[in-house]
Amino acid sequence: MTQKLTKIGKTDILSTPLGLGTNAVGGYNLFPDLKDETGLEIVRAGLENGITLLDTAYVYGLGHSEELVGQAMKDFDRSHIILATKGAHDFSTGEEVIKNDPKFLTEQVEASLKRLKTDYLDIYYIHFPDKTTPKAEAVGALQRLREQGKIKAIGLSNFSLDQIKEANADGYVDVVEDEFSLLHQDNTQTMMPYLKANQISFVPYFPLASGLLTGKYDQAVSFAGDDIRSQIADFKKPRFDEALKAIDRIRPVAQAYDATVTQIVLAWYMQNPLISVVIPGAKRPTQVINNAKAMAIDLTKDDYQKIDDAFSWFKDEESGKSLADPD
Ligand code: NAP
Repeated sequence: MTQKLTKIGKTDILSTPLGLGTNAVGGYNLFPDLKDETGLEIVRAGLENGITLLDTAYVYGLGHSEELVGQAMKDFDRSHIILATKGAHDFSTGEEVIKNDPKFLTEQVEASLKRLKTDYLDIYYIHFPDKTTPKAEAVGALQRLREQGKIKAIGLSNFSLDQIKEANADGYVDVVEDEFSLLHQDNTQTMMPYLKANQISFVPYFPLASGLLTGKYDQAVSFAGDDIRSQIADFKKPRFDEALKAIDRIRPVAQAYDATVTQIVLAWYMQNPLISVVIPGAKRPTQVINNAKAMAIDLTKDDYQKIDDAFSWFKDEESGKSLADPD
């Protein structure tokens, strides 16, 4: 059974290998038709079903996801929760500006603490790099907040490898969150060796490729023009066709474990030595309950490899292109 705990970076924080992504909890600016009550139930379902890490951000609902997460956490033991949030967005001028300067980041941490109604954050990520602040200076501001006990681990999100190296000049970075899934494995080649060598944990986002890796879609799927999935390349040919083929190849593996495609995909991430915590999002509490069951799946080496092999088309962009267009 995969009930191991995973250590975050160089800290003593231990998390379950499965977390909960909460961009659909109060994230009205990102998804239509969300309800606060459903968002609260999603978070509660995670905590009630053994998930310990909650991943939120200021930009999910411009503070509202953090408020709902804070509200849902009230009924649980804070010391058992690994709370991760992020900041870098400034909308005070009416337009989106990315900021990493020490004063801004310090104010953002204080504001997140208030919205989450807690006195410390387990992980604080700089959500996106800005163009002007020296990276080590931005991380230095977070290190001072760590010394004050306000945050416990320092994270970076959406930073390139060069930016990560610059930010980690003093060795303060504990965790990196970036896009990675069975359909997007580019980071394996680029940043993973550096992260491993520097004891920096990796948290992949979009692990279910926005729902595509749940196996619930077929050729008949279509999304409304205002649905973000209508713009995502994974839902367009040739990637979409290749994803459906790969998912069909792993259905027998799921059946062998009496599990869903989603659950064995999540189990694959949890057994992948490059990954620290996988944070699928959810729109409904039942999805969280089903996803949490993946923590009980222990894939054999063979089955892990079968899943890995099924998605080999996606490992290399060039091979993907040549398969798509044999001429
Ligand atoms: P995701 O995890 O790839 O996909 C989640 C979506 O899949 C859910 O919203 C739900 O959508 C569907 N789903 C989940 N479980 C399911 C199940 N058991 N059965 C069927 N469908 C299921 O994408 P994401 O939620 O956008 O990303 C995950 C987390 O990563 C976010 O919540 C956020 O915390 C984080 N993130 C971070 C960044 C960053 O810049 N750092 C960027 C993006 C995301 P439907 O029901 O609509 O299909």
